Amino acid sequence: MKPRIGYARVRRKAAELLEGQNSPPVSLDLVADLLGAEIREVELDDDASGILFRGNGRKVIAVNRSHHPLRKRFTIAHELGHLALHKGAEVHVDQVFRINLRDARSATAEDVEEIEANAFAANLLIPPQWIRLDLAGYTLDLENEARIDALAERYQVSKQAMIVRLTSLFSPK
Ligand SMILES: [Zn+2]
Repeated sequence: MKPRIGYARVRRKAAELLEGQNSPPVSLDLVADLLGAEIREVELDDDASGILFRGNGRKVIAVNRSHHPLRKRFTIAHELGHLALHKGAEVHVDQVFRINLRDARSATAEDVEEIEANAFAANLLIPPQWIRLDLAGYTLDLENEARIDALAERYQVSKQAMIVRLTSLFSPK
């Protein structure tokens, strides 16, 4: 049996946590505040992206300080997803290979919580209602590099993340 991924719940939760924010880039600090979490940049092995600690009444998201700023944003959004959606263990470590799983390819992956955390990150960083507004009046052209670059810059996500997101939101299924 295929594991069930709660995409509707993921979308709802991300939208809920974006209340009060209306334009990109999303402030992850505000979302962390709503969830009562602290964000720390720490030294981690290169193959570790982030760690979520929950214990003693504290919630701490540790992100690999040596990673690229946009990658850190994705990692933080992913960990916020675990925090918002999953009970989880006291310590949860995310390795790079997990972070690289994005919507498009994740359908076959086994780890539902990782898929949900990635879907949450995508919904948080590129909220569907915002990107729809930005694209209103444009024909979506994934070959238009300047346009994709501008959108990635506006949302503070990697170009690759923007392409994946646009593809999953707007491509005919
Ligand atoms: Zn994870």
